[in-house]
Amino acid sequence: MSTRRELMQQAMAAAFMAQVGGAAPPTGDTGWFDRPMRWVQLNLTEDDPANMDVGFWLDYFRRIHADATCLTAGGVVAFYPTRIPFHHRSQWLSGHESFYADLLAGCRKLNMVVVARTDPHATYQDVYDAHPDWIAVDADGRKRRHPDHPEMWMTCALGPYNFEFMTEVTREIVTLYDVGGVFSNRWTGTGVCYCEHCRKNFYNAHHMDLPRTSDPSDPSRRNYLVWHQQRLFELWRVWDDAIRKARPSARYIANSGGGALSGLDMKTVGELSPTLFADRQCRSGVMASWANGKNGKEYRAALGQKAIGGIFNVGIVAPYRWLNSFNTPAETRLWVLDGIANGLRPWVNHVSGTVHDKRGLKVIEDLYQWHYRAERYLRNEEPIARVAMVYSQQTAEFYGGSRARAKVEDHTLGMYQALIEARVPFEMVLDRLLGGEHINRYKMLLLPNIAALSDAQCEQLRDYVRQGGSLLATYETSLYDEWGTQRKDFGLADLFGVSFAARHQGPIQNAYFRVLKDTARAGVHPILKGLEDAEILIGGTWQLDVKPRETVEAPPLTWIPPITNLPMEKTYWTVKQTEIPGVYLRQVGKGRVVYFPWDIDRLYWEVMAQDHGILLRNAVDWATNEARPVTVIGLGMFDVTVWKQKRSMTIHLVNLTNPMAMRPNVHELIPSQPQQVAVRLPQGTRATKVQLLVAGGVVPAEQANGMVKLTVKSILDHEVIAIDLA
Ligand SMILES: [Zn+2]
Repeated sequence: MSTRRELMQQAMAAAFMAQVGGAAPPTGDTGWFDRPMRWVQLNLTEDDPANMDVGFWLDYFRRIHADATCLTAGGVVAFYPTRIPFHHRSQWLSGHESFYADLLAGCRKLNMVVVARTDPHATYQDVYDAHPDWIAVDADGRKRRHPDHPEMWMTCALGPYNFEFMTEVTREIVTLYDVGGVFSNRWTGTGVCYCEHCRKNFYNAHHMDLPRTSDPSDPSRRNYLVWHQQRLFELWRVWDDAIRKARPSARYIANSGGGALSGLDMKTVGELSPTLFADRQCRSGVMASWANGKNGKEYRAALGQKAIGGIFNVGIVAPYRWLNSFNTPAETRLWVLDGIANGLRPWVNHVSGTVHDKRGLKVIEDLYQWHYRAERYLRNEEPIARVAMVYSQQTAEFYGGSRARAKVEDHTLGMYQALIEARVPFEMVLDRLLGGEHINRYKMLLLPNIAALSDAQCEQLRDYVRQGGSLLATYETSLYDEWGTQRKDFGLADLFGVSFAARHQGPIQNAYFRVLKDTARAGVHPILKGLEDAEILIGGTWQLDVKPRETVEAPPLTWIPPITNLPMEKTYWTVKQTEIPGVYLRQVGKGRVVYFPWDIDRLYWEVMAQDHGILLRNAVDWATNEARPVTVIGLGMFDVTVWKQKRSMTIHLVNLTNPMAMRPNVHELIPSQPQQVAVRLPQGTRATKVQLLVAGGVVPAEQANGMVKLTVKSILDHEVIAIDLA
């Protein structure tokens, strides 16, 4: 039972979430933010004032048509003659005091936007001695040394170091230098800080001690998650106010954001940011070549059509942080091109003004020069997609907790992979932005185990379906409220047509689905297209028992319960078929609802049984129930995106067909087979010219009934079909 105090705290936390979401987007954002298309960041190192060849870089910026740069100014090291006590001037600044001013002047002469970078996460022994309360403290009460550079100390992100000292630093930078804003890195701290300020401030806010657990159902942890964000957004506003007072055209831009696993509420991030930069510099571990584009979609879900930069590196910076290394051009190109195809404006991060390996410069030059030539067709107005996938930070935070990657993100990744293979253009949608103005443009929404949804969010989804929208949901979608507390029944039970009964112990091994022919219709259901000969499919590993709320006629799949898998002599089937549906398919008004009571998406990511990918593809097509805006037919794996510009539209085809598509690194590009493309033109328009922006030149295309059809003979890494419209 919750105590009255806990309930009040929960109500306060809910009020906070409602309140941060209710803030109006900042006005007057018509400044420089939409102008830059190609960024170069120089992450300066302390010796740069003496050792960097400024002329070389300015010449390079000009040659590659970079129109914006981010230059480190202060925080850990001041690259200018700061007057603020404890703000450490570079040891190489003496004799080079005008270094930052000269660099800035050179960039301004090239008409580049310049943003200053700060980093507040680490400081020195003299700060420790004079202001011990500025240092971060671990759970055992020890001040935290810097893990990689032990002579330095980690700072507390939520106390006076950031709120006072870094505000002074920020103000000094924008007062002295004509910059478009301040971009700060590593400004949110690392883990829970138990310093005196954090303990006191948290106690004052919630009348309890800081959490010692990562269990999100614990009231202290739950309140902490809310309070931590509130404090960071407060800091964000303090810095932004200080910047705008000193220089009205400049803004604070946080290095923050991302998908379900990112820590700061993306709705508020989207409201506070005039522009933002998606920081995923390269691949590591098991990560698909489309992951940069995914990041772009996730940011866009929160930022709408505000400009979004995609930060990349030409080296292998993860997981062991070889900051000055060189990756293959093939890998870097595919990574960046997939970002561009998904609306990101390229931003290369170069660590140090010294070039340790010139090979990377050529890769950037090739990409940026093409981008400059094609710029007219890369100034997108809006994506054309009819399908969107929901992501949910509250599901990751309060339902997933420390297992969010497996319980939440893996469902998303499997669904994403299935859509890529199906060549369906799609967007992502943030669960906190489910109002009609955000989702009514889509014909269908995908809910990959979006377990934690509030009553209000469920009502928004119900409204969406009432207006003709379709849904596809999996596993525990809507079975929990926004705080991760389980409901008696799904919040969307009426749409799914089923009620929750029980959860099977998982992971389930050796279970199946029987494929059923619908004899009344003399064939198979459309979701079994391509599986006409199949008799059984692999069953889910995590599955719910559900009770149908209505009669289910002729389900295309029924469950076969797990069969003993060892010893193999005992693996005979005692049950060959049941009446238990493996999928629920319903027409609801003009909309369609598909519900899988198992982890088809997560399992697809883990095992990649093709049958499951086909089922997902067919389910999306069945629920969407209309022709796709573009179809691309041919062999291979492509990321297909479609965009509208002022007087044109583009179709990006990124060729991900490669043995290294699912984990780094791509070593060689492999040209594709021909692809047949059919594009539906926006209502009331016709094509006046069709070009290939990579192969070059106008291509013959057939135009009839509002469609343009053409064949792209071969694609090495990407192609962009540009169609001028009248
Ligand atoms: Zn602290």
